[in-house]
Amino acid sequence: MPYNCVVLIKQVPDTKRITGQAMNEDGTVNRSALPAVFNPEDLNALELALQIKEKFGGKVTAITMGLPAAAAILRDSLYRGADDAILVTDPRCAASDTLATSYIISCAVKKLDYDIVLCGRQAIDGDTAQVGPQLAEKLGITQITYLEQLIELNGNTITAQRNIGNGWQRVKAELPVLLTVTSQANESRVAAARKIMKYKNALAPVEIEKTVKAQNPEADEITSKELIDRKYTSLKEKGLLIKQWDMDYLEADLNWCGRSGSPTKVHRIQSVVLTAKESKNIEPTDEGIEDMIHELIKDKTIA
Ligand code: FAD
Repeated sequence: MPYNCVVLIKQVPDTKRITGQAMNEDGTVNRSALPAVFNPEDLNALELALQIKEKFGGKVTAITMGLPAAAAILRDSLYRGADDAILVTDPRCAASDTLATSYIISCAVKKLDYDIVLCGRQAIDGDTAQVGPQLAEKLGITQITYLEQLIELNGNTITAQRNIGNGWQRVKAELPVLLTVTSQANESRVAAARKIMKYKNALAPVEIEKTVKAQNPEADEITSKELIDRKYTSLKEKGLLIKQWDMDYLEADLNWCGRSGSPTKVHRIQSVVLTAKESKNIEPTDEGIEDMIHELIKDKTIA
């Protein structure tokens, strides 16, 4: 039986290749100092979706919510084998915390016909691992988090192995299901040369506008619009148009988007640097661990 997979992918700053001052004075991330990359575990989620398609048939759709530049990872998904790519972008998404992000993404996923939604376990910038579980809640579907192995897909039933830190757990669930995928699940494939040649010119509408304006700086507004429309139609006919959805298309409740939909308030960002004198050796015995736990409860580090 074929399965339709929707894969959530996020463009993140490459924290391994910092080329300047990573943080601004106000504690926000200085994105211009960090090259943007495909969130690593989202590549594992995409790989799993592609393997499901290859074994059972169906369709793989990649979605990202972000700035227009995030279309780059949608093209990358097409190079690796995704069938369709959707850019959710709108200035009204700005300042969204995880709750608003998962709401907006849920509106997009609800527009699609899906059996399995796949996310990375965690994004390397926000690092919360909240979006997948929140999205499953909003879609009203079962979630299997920390997936490290897909054991079986059989009709409407999925069996998977989860990493639970100090071991593993096998679970069975009915579809539709949301999976959050860890890096242990697979090795992600590289982009295929043939697909790079096919999709290297695929663009989202926002990129078409930017390209046409850059190539025709002298064009007046009417000519510019004609050129944009022509390019749009030509890419659509060739199957090279990356879909672009905004809050109006998603019929999203704006109270749940952006700043107004984001209850998280960042009061202070602090870098914690541990010095040697703050570390303590503990005896690797039950008593040693028990003493440490009592100490942590006493100074209210843990409850
Ligand atoms: P995780 O929950 O760790 O991600 C898990 C998985 O969910 C990912 O592997 C991926 O599969 C999926 N996923 C997560 N995010 C996306 C996405 N955007 N598209 C597709 N799939 C996704 N960020 C901004 O870019 N601009 C802002 O203006 C902004 N303002 C913020 C304001 C506040 C108060 C806070 C708290 C955060 C803000 N953020 C902003 C960060 C933003 O909320 C998070 O990046 C986002 O919600 C994802 O959370 P995460 O990075 O912890 O992802």
